[in-house]
Amino acid sequence: MRPEIRKIVIDPAFGDAELPHRIAEKLGLKPEFNTKDGLLDEIRQNPGGDLFKTAKKVLFFTENKGRFLKKCPGSKGVVCCNYYTINSVTGCPYDCSYCILQHYIGNNPFITVFLNKEKAVDEIVSFLAENRFLRVGTGELADSLALDHLLDESGFFIGELAKRSLFDRVQFEFKTKSAEVGRLLEVKKLYPDSSIVAGFSVNIPRFSSHEEPGTASVEERINAAEQLQKNGVKVAIHFDPVLMLEELFDDYMRLIDFIFSRLDTEKIAWISMGGFRHTLALTETIVERNPKSLLLRGEMFPSDSDNKLRYLAFVRRRFYTAFDRRISSFFKGRPPLYMCMEKAFMWSDMKMPFPKNVFGGENEQFKCDFGC
Ligand code: SF4
Repeated sequence: MRPEIRKIVIDPAFGDAELPHRIAEKLGLKPEFNTKDGLLDEIRQNPGGDLFKTAKKVLFFTENKGRFLKKCPGSKGVVCCNYYTINSVTGCPYDCSYCILQHYIGNNPFITVFLNKEKAVDEIVSFLAENRFLRVGTGELADSLALDHLLDESGFFIGELAKRSLFDRVQFEFKTKSAEVGRLLEVKKLYPDSSIVAGFSVNIPRFSSHEEPGTASVEERINAAEQLQKNGVKVAIHFDPVLMLEELFDDYMRLIDFIFSRLDTEKIAWISMGGFRHTLALTETIVERNPKSLLLRGEMFPSDSDNKLRYLAFVRRRFYTAFDRRISSFFKGRPPLYMCMEKAFMWSDMKMPFPKNVFGGENEQFKCDFGC
């Protein structure tokens, strides 16, 4: 089911912008005009049962005064995979119990869509003046595809890269927990040479149904991934966050079997796995908003370098090793597998090829703080 949008609000400085009016018409809504602060006051005064849930149904259109293109912030002391993000939208219609947006965007709870996305394309062009290759995605502060039928982010970015003949220098990932791939299929048909990756975040069904409300089921996501592969779009699979609890171990193994017996492993761009990690502040939010969350089970310890709580190293090693073995059993050679937000010692313990072996072929200027 598509996420519900109840309100379209346009920053008065951009009242004539075409996109929000087009979306409002499509949804049968009358656009409203308000500033960010005005909208925030309005939502705080009428929060409904849960301010976050109310705000997630509001699309606010304005401009981004800062930079769009940023290196993935990663975390102190973890091995970096040299990924870049474009934050053209901030906020998400879904409400995952572990979502960092609950913590970072307390002052901006609605979905903000930036109208000056051409600036993001200029930033890509400047980046490529100094670098040969860019691997980039829009899914850091938003779900890349959940609202693609309205926002057409895929059509915009791939169309702009086509105009500038940049398909051999930019690999663009759309990361999602939806099965909203209709527009992406059309875009691939329009631009068959584009280097698009559709990244699906996956988890075991009993986790997704409780902790990722509103998202597509794992089966729906994999159906969508299969459809994309059949139409020439490469797929990435992100096992994140993995709940490293013994009672869930078999469920994860079944999930791996389900996914890789369905997908064409030749058409998988990359696979990541990341154990659940979080800040103390997020724990408070989880306790407050989702007191029965599975995330609150299991022992976690603060890390020395970034103060995030993680499962103990031997637990992480056990899960990563099992994931690696099970996933590898579906591939002829080494799968394009890496660990997300994981420390250098864990890469070394796991004897895992460093990220440049997964992404590096096209990325000549790959740099890694750990000498990988
Ligand atoms: S899909 Fe991603 S951005 Fe959206 S609520 Fe879930 S974790 Fe947050």
